[in-house]
Amino acid sequence: MQLFVDVILPLPLASYYTYSVPQEYEGYIAIGCRVTVPLGKSKHYTALVARVHNEPPQGYEVKTITELLDETAIVLPSQMRLWEWISKYYMCSLGEIYKAAVPQGLKGEFKPKTEQRIKLSKRYSDTIAINLAEQFLSRAPRQKRLLNTFLQLTKEGEEISRHKLIEAAGVTANICKELVDKGIFEVYEVEIGRLDRTKGSIQPPNALNEAQQKALDEINESFAQKNVTLLHGVTSAGKTEVYIHLITQALERGEQVLYMLPEIALTKQIVERLRKVFGNRIGLYHSKFSDAERVEIWKKQLSDSPYDIILGVRSSLFLPLKNLGLIIVDEEHENSYKQQDPAPRYNARNAAIVLASQFGAKTLLGTATPSVESYYNATTGKYGLVSLLTRYRSIQLPEISIIDIKDLAHRKQMTGAFSDPLTDAMKEALANKKQIILFQNRRGYAPLLECRNCGWVPRCKHCDVSLTLHKSAGKLTCHYCGYTIPAPKICPNCEENNFVNLGYGTEKIEDDLQNLFPEARIARMDLDTTRTRTSYEKIINDFQQGETDILIGTQMVSKGLDFDNVEVVGILNADTLLNYPDFRANERAFQLISQVAGRAGRKYGRGKVFLQTKQPDAPIMPHIIDNSFLNFYNNQLSERMLFHYPPFYRLVYVYLKHREIHTLEECSELMGVRMRETFGHRVLGPDLPPVARVQQLFIRKIVLKVENNLSQYKINDALNKLQQEILSNSRYKSVAIYYDVDPL
Ligand SMILES: [Zn+2]
Ligand SMILES: [Zn+2]
Repeated sequence: MQLFVDVILPLPLASYYTYSVPQEYEGYIAIGCRVTVPLGKSKHYTALVARVHNEPPQGYEVKTITELLDETAIVLPSQMRLWEWISKYYMCSLGEIYKAAVPQGLKGEFKPKTEQRIKLSKRYSDTIAINLAEQFLSRAPRQKRLLNTFLQLTKEGEEISRHKLIEAAGVTANICKELVDKGIFEVYEVEIGRLDRTKGSIQPPNALNEAQQKALDEINESFAQKNVTLLHGVTSAGKTEVYIHLITQALERGEQVLYMLPEIALTKQIVERLRKVFGNRIGLYHSKFSDAERVEIWKKQLSDSPYDIILGVRSSLFLPLKNLGLIIVDEEHENSYKQQDPAPRYNARNAAIVLASQFGAKTLLGTATPSVESYYNATTGKYGLVSLLTRYRSIQLPEISIIDIKDLAHRKQMTGAFSDPLTDAMKEALANKKQIILFQNRRGYAPLLECRNCGWVPRCKHCDVSLTLHKSAGKLTCHYCGYTIPAPKICPNCEENNFVNLGYGTEKIEDDLQNLFPEARIARMDLDTTRTRTSYEKIINDFQQGETDILIGTQMVSKGLDFDNVEVVGILNADTLLNYPDFRANERAFQLISQVAGRAGRKYGRGKVFLQTKQPDAPIMPHIIDNSFLNFYNNQLSERMLFHYPPFYRLVYVYLKHREIHTLEECSELMGVRMRETFGHRVLGPDLPPVARVQQLFIRKIVLKVENNLSQYKINDALNKLQQEILSNSRYKSVAIYYDVDPL
C-alpha cells in the first residue's frame, strides 16, 4: 500500500502538506524525521514529518518527497504536543514554530567535538610512575618533565587534556607521543560538549538558612497539592540556593530539570553557582549561541546521556526532553519571556507551565517582584504561594529618595541629567571608594536631534519615528529597523548649522559624567556596548573586581547582578517608564525600579537610591519608597478590574499591516466591524499603534478584551474565520493580519 506523510513546512501555512513516500524509505520514515520536499514549481524545503498514513489526498496530484534526512526522529512527540498547544493558543502556524524551535544546522552528518586525553597506562600507579621517571627517564629530560607535570596536575587515576598537558609542560607533541609509544601514557578521544567548561571540583549544595529551609519545605508541600507554585522572594533572600536544593531532589528522583532565565548573559553568577554543584550535568542554551552549539545540545538531549539540567532562555523550552520533572522560571515577571516578533509570539513562562503539565511535572515561578497575573493566580488558589521575605545575612533594603527634577531645574540645582543630591552622593561614594550604578532607559546619545533654526527633526525613511543620535559613531539610527545615516553637519531644510540635542541617552550620560568626574572610571552597558558574547561579561567582571567606579546602563543593569560594593543607585528619569502608553506601565516601573534599587548596599551598610522624576506625587511612589509589593499590587488590581484588563480579562491584539495606507485603513475598518458583530463591545479600534509605520509597512491595531472565563480556542476560531473571509476579498488578500495573544 502506498505510504503518505503529512509534513510541517517552515512557512506560515495553516495546514499540513501531504506527500507520497518512495518505497526505499518505507520502514524508515517516522514522525519527527525531516524530509526534503518540492513546493510549487521549483522550490524545495526541509519539512518535518507530522503524520504517516495510507490515505491518498483527494483533488490534487500528490508529489513525492525528495529525500529522507534523518534515520531517527529529531523531534519527539512530547515536543510536537507543545508546538500544537502554542499554535492553537497563540494563533500561529506549526511551520513558524518549527522554524523557531529547531536549529538550522540540524541536518546531515553530525560530528561531535572531541578532545584527546592522556592518562597513565593501566600498568602504572602514580608511585610506580614516579620511580619510573627517576630511573628510566633520567636521560630524557623532556619526557621526564612531561611525566612530572602530569603527576602534578592529576590525582591518582585521573586524566588530562593532551593539549593542556603539553602546554603546561612546555614540550612538543612529539615528546608526548614518545611516552605513549613507551606504553607509559595512554591516549584516547572523548566527546566533549562545546558547552562544557567546568573548572574545579563539584561541591555539595550549601546548607540552607532557616528561612530558606522553610521556603523549601513549603514549596514541596505546595507541590503536593498544586502543579504551579510562585516563590515570592525579596532580592538577596537567596532564592538560588532554594532552587539548587529543589533541583537536587528532582535529580535524585531521576528527573530532568529545566531552569529558565530571561537572559543568560546577564546571570553569569547564577551559572557559576550551579556549575559548582552540578558540574557537567548542566547544559546551557543561550540566545548568543551559534547554530552549531544549539545543534550539539539538541543532539545530546536526544541521546542516551542527555543533560539532566538545562539552563536556558525562553527558547530552551523547545529542546528535546524525555523525563521532565521540574521547571523553574526565574524572574518570572520579565517581559523578555514573551517573544514579540516574529511569530510564534508566545510567552515562555506560560508555555512552560503547559509543558510541565504535559509531563506531569511541577513548575516553580520565582521573583522578587511578581507579575500581577502570577500573584493573582497565587492568591486565588490556582497556584501555590510561598514567600521568602528575609534578606540573606540581614542585608538592609536601600533608602529610596524621590527627587523632583522639575522643581530642582527651576532652582538651578540640576547639572544636565544629574540633580544636586545625586551628584553629592556620587561624590561622596567615589571619595569612599564605593561604586555607583546609574540607570537610564534610553541608549544612544540623544533621542532627538532638532534644528534650532527651523525645527527640522531627522526621521526614519521606513518607520514613523525620529532617529536617535549616536555621537561616537557619528550616526543617526532608527531603533526599530536599524536604518542609519551619517549625522548631518548642516540642516537639510534651512542649511544652518544650529542643532540641539534633546533628551539623554546612555552615551550622553557617560560623556557628561566623565566631565563631572574626570578621575572616575566609567563603563556603559547597553545594546551598543554588548554586541558580542564576551562584552557583557567583561563589563560585569570589571565592575565586580572594582576596576570600574560607575556603571551606566539601560535595564540590563537591573538584572540578576549581585555587587557588594555599590553604595549609590541613580534612576535618572523615571518618567519614561511611568509615561509609557500601556496599562502595564506602572507595573513595569515598579518592577524595574525595585530591581535596580535592589543592586544597592548589598553587603556593607545601607545603600542609597535616588529616583529622579517630574512626577514625585505619582500614586506608585509611596509603594516604591516602602518597597511594598502588596500595597502596589492591591492598587493595581482594582485598576485592572475597573478598566477590564488582565488578570480579569484577556487581551488579543490584532495587527494589520500593508504598504498602501488606504487599503490598510479600509481593511482594518472592515475587520473592526466584523469583529464587533461577533464580540460586541469587547472590541476597541482600529487605532494607530504608538509607532504606526515600521519598515515601509503601515500598521493598524484592533484590541479585543475578553472575559477570563471564555474559551481562548473558541475566540481564536472565530478570529480565524473572520480573517479567512476578509482575505478572500482580492482587494485585501495582500494585507498581513496577525495576532498577539496575551500581549506584554
Ligand atoms: Zn533647519
Ligand atoms: Zn526605521
